[in-house]
Amino acid sequence: MEKPFYKGLKIGVLGGGQLGRMLLQKSYSYNLEMAFIDPDANAPCREISNWFYRGDLNNFKLVYDFGKKCDVVTIEIENVNVEALEKLEQEGIKVFPQPRCIKIVQDKGLQKLFYKEYSFPSSDFYLIENKKDLELFKDQLPIVQKLRKGGYDGKGVQILKNVSDFEKAFDGPCILEKLVDIKQEISVIACRGQNGDVKAFPPVEMEFNPEANLVEFLFSPASISSEMEKAAMELAKNIITKLDMVGILAVEMFLTKDNELLVNEIAPRPHNSGHQTIEGNVTSQYDQLLRCLIGMPLGNTDITIPSVMVNLLGEKDFMGYAKYKDIEKAMAIDGVNIHIYGKAETKSFRKMGHVTVVDKNIEKAKEKAKIVKDTLKVIA
Ligand code: ADP
Repeated sequence: MEKPFYKGLKIGVLGGGQLGRMLLQKSYSYNLEMAFIDPDANAPCREISNWFYRGDLNNFKLVYDFGKKCDVVTIEIENVNVEALEKLEQEGIKVFPQPRCIKIVQDKGLQKLFYKEYSFPSSDFYLIENKKDLELFKDQLPIVQKLRKGGYDGKGVQILKNVSDFEKAFDGPCILEKLVDIKQEISVIACRGQNGDVKAFPPVEMEFNPEANLVEFLFSPASISSEMEKAAMELAKNIITKLDMVGILAVEMFLTKDNELLVNEIAPRPHNSGHQTIEGNVTSQYDQLLRCLIGMPLGNTDITIPSVMVNLLGEKDFMGYAKYKDIEKAMAIDGVNIHIYGKAETKSFRKMGHVTVVDKNIEKAKEKAKIVKDTLKVIA
């Protein structure tokens, strides 16, 4: 008997967080089997996945043994054991994004060298080995210091304004970046199929919570000129092409006050800046990644309706079993779509869910998103 569409093809995902969970939700449309591995026994994929393994994503043997049970392997977090993925790839298992791309992304220094090699615009930088090297850059202050490895959500990034800040500087391999005069922060998700076809989602604009350094609001489309929109999409497509990568790649960019477009960083997986594609675009970022993984044509990336995404962050100073205060008030607002990630415990600024507000009029969507933000609170 012929198998129903793709049942039997097992896709392994390294990481079982909210990105994996939304990927799993979409995978039912194609009748795919998905397996997850995550160190956290209560990870968001745990309770809704048939195949969940608990394990350290940096352990060679665990990642290798997990991948060996799958036909295709992907990631939802880049901090994973690349050597195991390289071995799986050598043994004929499809690994997308390819391990050599993950290797570049894991190291902000290698990312910067990659942009430089191919003349992709990015802020000027230096590589340093430790805190002592900072002495050489006294006349370059203020400067942005970033740990080459392991940083995320703004952790591992700090601005050194004067010499007295050297005390709190990171002591290890870092990049030092010129401080950019940022007008807007935008993101484009590029996608590339197994046949080499390339597309990009229209740019979105990100607004950060200054205290938590996390995206608070995201606007789709970004309020930039159509020329800038085109340039940003071209840039993202050129980057995924030069990487020769299969999968989806979020390209975070700065638009400077001088109207220059600079690449900040890339992430070769579903991304926070693509959540709104579920309700706001013809094809979602999760659908697009699945299409790449199973070798299907890429979907249409157009925006169907403007949207604003609000990250539901755990209220500051609340810790414990999560409660969603006034969720019914938020759901009563026209155009509100709620996503709860299923994390039992909340803590200050933890990403607990998100809300996508759609409206034909983006200004109205912004107003509603503001109300949602002030109404729906994650407390304990
Ligand atoms: P992470 O990988 O932790 O998300 P990023 O490199 O994206 O770190 O930096 C986090 C934030 O810090 C950016 O979104 C931006 O607001 C700010 N930032 C980063 N680099 C610079 C820079 N060179 N100049 C000015 N601000 C920067």
